[in-house]
Amino acid sequence: MTSNNIVNTSIDYTHDVLTKDIIKLESRYSFIKTGSIGQSVFDRDLYYIKLGAGKNKVFLNGAFHSLEWITSVLLMKFAEDYCQSYENIEKLEGYDIKKLYNNTSIYIVPMVNPDGIDLVLNGLKNIPNDHKEDLIKWNNDSNDFSKRWQANARGVDLNHNYDASWNDYKASQVKNNITGPTNTRYSGRCPESEPETAAITKFTRNSNFDLVLALHSQGKEIYWNYGNIEPEFSKKIGEKLANASGYSLKTPTVMASNTGFKDWFIKTFNKPGYTIEVGRGKNPLPIEDLYDIYSEVLPLILEASVATIQK
Ligand SMILES: [Zn+2]
Repeated sequence: MTSNNIVNTSIDYTHDVLTKDIIKLESRYSFIKTGSIGQSVFDRDLYYIKLGAGKNKVFLNGAFHSLEWITSVLLMKFAEDYCQSYENIEKLEGYDIKKLYNNTSIYIVPMVNPDGIDLVLNGLKNIPNDHKEDLIKWNNDSNDFSKRWQANARGVDLNHNYDASWNDYKASQVKNNITGPTNTRYSGRCPESEPETAAITKFTRNSNFDLVLALHSQGKEIYWNYGNIEPEFSKKIGEKLANASGYSLKTPTVMASNTGFKDWFIKTFNKPGYTIEVGRGKNPLPIEDLYDIYSEVLPLILEASVATIQK
């Protein structure tokens, strides 16, 4: 594995750290493209990185859930390793990156929920005064967000804010006593009510992706289906991703699935979409686990980047 020059893999990965790393990556590697697909509730940029120039288009995203910020670091680490391999004309995990560059465009949104991550890592420090009371109330009257806050700054779970089995999910939400903004699993007033979700759907609608991967933690699991309407080859690709990572293919329960990004993607575009639950342990996974998890996720990402060409 190549040495790490830019992406910081040993500290709490806030939006500020991400911003610096993106700027450094972009100025170091002129062949990549970066930008913003929109802003969070508190106006933080939702950055994207584009690697490659191929017709096959793959979308990787991470940290829909605040406690799962290690997925942002995994994606940034991948972006840097890709850049180094491309520049040095080296293989990465046996993959010819020059060839990958020409065949596939990889779009990465490493941090979908920067406000939630800031709450987990910095508490209420950066929150405007007029918003603090609500957040404490939504967090079960606690000002400790470090172990349980998964939502965005309005108490909406960003992986339950999509138009995919919306009514079924709402019914299961009521059964589970979730009636309004809270730390996890509240789906919001309506699909795409949140700026982060709206930015992701707009970007996706405009991009014609062939495959999407959403990184979450934890469980070492791959969720590949939605109802029975996913494309026929979704399972076959899922098996390849499982082989590459050692993770297991899973079919979700109603409460964990539905109204998620990959569900919406499969339903809307009839193309393969996957939720990857990386690592194992209690969220937030310790940053010390990063390299072990990366060794599982790197081959999975590379496999996903070529899977729709080979199908
Ligand atoms: Zn998650």
